[in-house]
Amino acid sequence: MPELPEVETIRRQLAPALEGRRIVDARVLDPRWCEPAPPEAIEDALRGRTIERAGRRGKYLILSLEDDVHLVMHLRMTGNLLISADHESPAHLRVTLDLDDGRRLMFVDVRRFGTGDVLLGGDALDEYFESRLGVEPLSADFTTDALRALARGRKQPVKAFLLNQERIAGVGNIYADEALFRAKLHPLRQVGTLRRPQIEALRDAVIEALELGIDSKGASIDDYRHVDGARGSFQDRFLVYSRAGEPCVRCGSTIVKLRAAGRGTYICPNCQRRPRASASAPSSRPARRALGSS
Ligand SMILES: [Zn+2]
Repeated sequence: MPELPEVETIRRQLAPALEGRRIVDARVLDPRWCEPAPPEAIEDALRGRTIERAGRRGKYLILSLEDDVHLVMHLRMTGNLLISADHESPAHLRVTLDLDDGRRLMFVDVRRFGTGDVLLGGDALDEYFESRLGVEPLSADFTTDALRALARGRKQPVKAFLLNQERIAGVGNIYADEALFRAKLHPLRQVGTLRRPQIEALRDAVIEALELGIDSKGASIDDYRHVDGARGSFQDRFLVYSRAGEPCVRCGSTIVKLRAAGRGTYICPNCQRRPRASASAPSSRPARRALGSS
């Protein structure tokens, strides 16, 4: 599933193609994409309006149109946005936006978990994200103190904590593993027990992993593609993710796969020591709701 760096890569590619363009026609071919809103209502809100800005919050893409109308899209598992000049219809096409330069923006989604919502007004947009997303990790708000405040008193394992979109927006399975390795933290460590230097290391590691992901134009491990259909290259720079059985780049120990927060999780057992408390209680399971929307 695309995480913050993949969505940011798409945003950067969409922005020059979309900003300033008018939507001459909008078609929602799959009502599930925008439910409970009816497709006609979405189409009417988009049609005829100029796209002023392509933005992002967490893993959400935002097309802000004139008259303070905002289209918020989430790619979920297999969603992709493609821009095409010829109007052929790829398989699994869910939504099309025809632009005034003759090109077409297409939302393609095999598994149909992707969504689109239209919000009228900046306040509605803020409210939408307030209930869904926490701090933006590449913003100035993501300080060591802010992370410390979020973590304080929590018994949740640090990996589940990172995946919770209501605390930190945009981190998913890949970048959580890469960040925890960089910070030398075991994913099952209780986040509330981290000391200040560890919190600081975790903050820096999250930022580093996300920025490297953006530099690499995202990771293409399953369905994620760029707007032009190309693939990202972050998968070639993974330090632990999907590297079970391979040597740790830092110490040479063998990377292992375990389960944390209900997800396949990769660690170096030497660099990321298992916390003593949970070593005797390996069955402690993170709450289901801790998974957020990732
Ligand atoms: Zn190691």
